[in-house]
Amino acid sequence: MYLKRLDLQGFKSFPEKVKLEFNQGVTAVVGPNGSGKSNVSDAVRWVLGEQRAKSLRGDKMEDVIFAGTENRKPLGFAEVSIIIDNQDQKLPLEYTEVQVTRRVFRSGESEYRINGTACRLKDIQELFMDTGVGREGYSIIGQGRIDEILSAKGDERRRFFEEAAGIVKYKTRRNEAASKLEKEQQNLLRVDDIISELE
Ligand code: ATP
Repeated sequence: MYLKRLDLQGFKSFPEKVKLEFNQGVTAVVGPNGSGKSNVSDAVRWVLGEQRAKSLRGDKMEDVIFAGTENRKPLGFAEVSIIIDNQDQKLPLEYTEVQVTRRVFRSGESEYRINGTACRLKDIQELFMDTGVGREGYSIIGQGRIDEILSAKGDERRRFFEEAAGIVKYKTRRNEAASKLEKEQQNLLRVDDIISELE
């Protein structure tokens, strides 16, 4: 599995449609200060479901939409697609290429797609769970992140190891099942109350 292409449109400093092709191996993105290098990695994190505007260096989610310049009007939406080579089937989908797309409008409305089919943010999070690529993954190490990891508390650091060990998916499912069970137990108690009222 590797990142093959990144398509940007209206995302931060990229008003035009831009396609960035990557090969296997090392790719370096170089450019003067403020030219948009970090915006490229922000785009990858955003399309993978990042919900914290602060971690994308903005105040609100709308800040990812091209805000205009002296000569250019602001845009109404931002769209990013990530195209992943999945020949090794590391992503649990029967496609050799997986495209994930996220679009956001100034109204706040958001859309997610996997290979062109509309989906929920949860589907994207589940797709990348335990691959190291997701929002909480370790595939993108931003400035200051190493320090953050080294000084993290035990519980926080443990999350990285759990992602690498591939058990996050099972833990998430267990927690979901436990919370469903808890709800059903509450429902049963309510049914018991109603029955005893009727008797
Ligand atoms: P450095 O080398 O200093 O870290 P960089 O190449 O990583 O810089 P970025 O931080 O990716 O640069 O890009 C910053 C640029 O992106 C700034 O010029 C900023 O004005 C522009 N920018 C960020 N958000 C938007 C937006 N919503 N609309 C238009 N431009 C934006």
